[in-house]
Amino acid sequence: MRLTGHVLIAASVLAGSGALAQMPASGPAQPQLTYVRCGALWDGKSDQLQHDIVITIEAGRVRTLATTAPSQVSGLIDLSDQTCLPGLIDTHTHVLALSAGEMQQGAENDSVSARTLRGASLARRALDYGFTSIRDLNSMGVDGADADISRAIARGLIPGPRMQVATAGLSTSGSGSTVHACDGADGCRRAVREAVARGANWIKVFADRGVRRLPEGIFDDQPTFTLEELRAIVDEAHRQARRVAAHASGKTSVHNAVEAGVDSIEHGMYIAPEDMTVMLSKGIWYVPSLYLMTKAVFGSPEQEAQSQPGVRIIIDTFKRALRTGVKVAYGTDVGAFDWTTTPAIQLPLMVQHGMTPVQALRSATAAAAELLQTQRDVGTLEAGKFADIVAVSGNPLEDVAALQKVSFVMKGGVVIRR
Ligand SMILES: [Zn+2]
Repeated sequence: MRLTGHVLIAASVLAGSGALAQMPASGPAQPQLTYVRCGALWDGKSDQLQHDIVITIEAGRVRTLATTAPSQVSGLIDLSDQTCLPGLIDTHTHVLALSAGEMQQGAENDSVSARTLRGASLARRALDYGFTSIRDLNSMGVDGADADISRAIARGLIPGPRMQVATAGLSTSGSGSTVHACDGADGCRRAVREAVARGANWIKVFADRGVRRLPEGIFDDQPTFTLEELRAIVDEAHRQARRVAAHASGKTSVHNAVEAGVDSIEHGMYIAPEDMTVMLSKGIWYVPSLYLMTKAVFGSPEQEAQSQPGVRIIIDTFKRALRTGVKVAYGTDVGAFDWTTTPAIQLPLMVQHGMTPVQALRSATAAAAELLQTQRDVGTLEAGKFADIVAVSGNPLEDVAALQKVSFVMKGGVVIRR
């Protein structure tokens, strides 16, 4: 089902005046400059903060970073008691997921339009949390609505983050209604072509269904696709300049996905050392949804306590990835946990389990932009890039939890939240 035009218009009306704020100003003779004065700034590259920086913004992009502003400027945004950072990036979201409460209300039977409007409001929420780019990995049975939301944002009809989308994730026959089933190499090539036609930037594959912990202290899983099918998916996606994100939880599905040459491993609760070495040599990204897997997935403290042997495997996998030097990008699977929690909640966990604060922040900025191949435009604060800026109180290089309370969000030079 495709989203129709009148839904986009309704979404625009519901979104309110924020949508209008994204419209470009009409033709001034002089370039319109905006200035943001930051008490401190982390640019996404350095290991340290710079102090008293003025960001000059022209046409939505950073023109200069300097220690002084021209005197007598209009349009200066004063954040002199704040620390500025590049806008955050979550590379694994689900804006079309339904919360447990929404499911209880029967929302899965809502119309495509209703689901899409809800998705648009959650995209807006991501932006309010300071996530100026997201990669949304599966349209949750509302196929193509993610691509429509992404396009509506890009056209300035509704406010939201820069979005890359997967449309319906691929799995094999018998896998339920929230995926697109395909079987056989040719059938899966066709499914990739259909996803591309619906607007997929990424092909999401569910490489496993069902994961179990084995006595030897690993997770193994039940693979969905054959290696031949996975290879066909990867080949067809790459042939069309799209990339492949594999939901792969345990030993076998991760191994098959890595062998097939996917571009990112999502979750990776257990990754065998030899597969990690191949990930390193092939440049395959690891997107560990640490908060979901070690905290949010548990319904009660008792359940969490009982699950500690499994949690230790997940954390050990994460630590081995850091030691091996595998590229790690920030991805939370928000939507699998409720959007009332900011996806920034995962940053302190990544530090707790071995990253430096700068590494954790890079995973959610510069590194994530590299995974999305948008590093020419976003991920760091430097001349020429989009003015995607967040600000927080305190020093985020000492305490990354500061990102859970952003006080200021700008996307493309437009103030979203102040
Ligand atoms: Zn997910």
